[in-house]
Amino acid sequence: MNVMVVPGQRLSNRQINNMYLTILQALNSEQWKTRGRVECHCGQPALYTCGQCELPDLCRMCMVEAHLGSPLHKIREWSERAQSYACVSLRELGLRVALGHSGAPCPHPHPRRMDAITMTGIETLAVDFCGCERATNDGDQIKARGWWPLCGNYLSAIPLAVLRQIADRDEGEDLDAEQFDEESESSDAESEAAESSTSE
Ligand SMILES: [Zn+2]
Ligand SMILES: [Zn+2]
Ligand SMILES: [Zn+2]
Repeated sequence: MNVMVVPGQRLSNRQINNMYLTILQALNSEQWKTRGRVECHCGQPALYTCGQCELPDLCRMCMVEAHLGSPLHKIREWSERAQSYACVSLRELGLRVALGHSGAPCPHPHPRRMDAITMTGIETLAVDFCGCERATNDGDQIKARGWWPLCGNYLSAIPLAVLRQIADRDEGEDLDAEQFDEESESSDAESEAAESSTSE
């Protein structure tokens, strides 16, 4: 991976998009980073790393705890045998999204699986809906978390942050189209193909 940015340089939306694709490719390759620290601050082996926050490598428990508010982050697990990182979801590491109590666990949870749409695909989450007597309906619980429910049975949702990212990107594309009029049609087609592949 070789992404160069000069300080003060103003990047076009297309350049940012290309950089994003390059970094995504690097994240999907086997050796996207060298091994970080080997021991978590709690003393357990630090086998997990997050590609989206500036955390040091952590153990499973500490990585889950650090992501209760960001359950859609991309985590990688270090394999001593393969001497490389591989993808693992926070759900597989044991993360449960608790609804109805400002993120705290509900004493009467209704556990369900829910698909969340992200910029790079669909992530399945383990969600504990609040089952307390005074609980609001499932849809309102999802909305209170900052997600928008996509079907009537509330088994899939899109985070508002992702909708904002898509809206910002589309707005940037409109500006880009004006700025990059002189560029050839073939590069436009390439860029569109790349964009549609990342948004699926
Ligand atoms: Zn993270
Ligand atoms: Zn730890
Ligand atoms: Zn509850």
